[in-house]
Amino acid sequence: MSDIEKVHCLIIGSGPAGYTAAIYASRANLKPVLYQGLQPGGQLTITTEVENYPGYPEGIMGPQMMIDFEKQAQRMGADIRWGMATKVDFSSRPYKVEIDEEKWIEADSVIIATGASAKWLGLPSEQRLNGHGVSACAVCDGFFFKGQEVAIVGAGDTACEEALYLSKLCSTVHMLVRRGEMRASKVMQDRVLSTPNIKVYWNSETLEVLGENKVDSIKILNNKTNEETIIPVKAFFVAIGHEPNSQLFKGLLDMDEAGYLITQPGSSKTNIEGVFACGDVQDKIYRQAVTAAGSGCMAALDAERYLGALEHAQMQAQPAQA
Ligand code: NDP
Repeated sequence: MSDIEKVHCLIIGSGPAGYTAAIYASRANLKPVLYQGLQPGGQLTITTEVENYPGYPEGIMGPQMMIDFEKQAQRMGADIRWGMATKVDFSSRPYKVEIDEEKWIEADSVIIATGASAKWLGLPSEQRLNGHGVSACAVCDGFFFKGQEVAIVGAGDTACEEALYLSKLCSTVHMLVRRGEMRASKVMQDRVLSTPNIKVYWNSETLEVLGENKVDSIKILNNKTNEETIIPVKAFFVAIGHEPNSQLFKGLLDMDEAGYLITQPGSSKTNIEGVFACGDVQDKIYRQAVTAAGSGCMAALDAERYLGALEHAQMQAQPAQA
């Protein structure tokens, strides 16, 4: 650890949670340093239009929104940098974070906002038409397919929730379940199965998403009968789970079995004092830009209080000057 920089408040991650934490931490004079990670701007940089973030009456493109967040954080004084946290050491204060495997930062407080990544099927056609009818977020993109036929793949609570959401907007929702049963909770399954415009295809796998520049149908395979079917749809939603970007903190921070960081209810505090988590890395339920931003604000306020108390304790511990 030869090259060590000391910072008051280190933020890891650059989605709505990280940037909002940076805005609040800057205004509280914590002089935050934010490392953007592999995908600056996070998941919103791979979406198209965002219509449900308050304050943008005409809607805004996801990538532009993240540029706005970044600019606002910079204007408040946040030090925003390219770079990726590659190792952390939370065993003693100040906490140590390695950046890009070459430089160490010592931080009095750390805000983790590393987000989550949607899981994809891995089909080339899914990738090619991503943002052109293929989406991993029904709440974000369902509205663009009002009155049309759409498909969704997955059979967990998220897929059920999103299928129900889509059923209120779209004429028919074709739901593809790869086994003969769903993983989702019974109540969610019952709701899906009793919704007339959701058509469930059991034992069905997606072979291909079809369409030149936008989705126009999908080809599916019934893995019991080997029958292939083409279903005309305008959108294909993938809801097969998310992966929280928390691998770096395994064994150090408390997380649930899926890897989501556990924060104390009503706060952003992790099990290590002075280390806070916000956004999708600790939220498997809501996962919205606005909820991520709100939790980023909470993390900065929690960090401010923590650092204030730490400073006070250090001053008390100093011998009085003659
Ligand atoms: P889950 O991991 O629970 O479910 C993923 C689903 O996707 C499974 O049905 C799985 O099928 C299917 N799947 C995975 N890979 C593929 C593939 N390659 N092709 C086709 N299907 C595939 O993820 P969720 O996001 O649904 O939920 C995550 C957690 O969040 C859960 O604990 C859930 O209960 C919780 N949650 C709670 C909510 C609430 O309380 N309101 C709302 C949303 C989520 P298979 O079953 O065959 O493995």
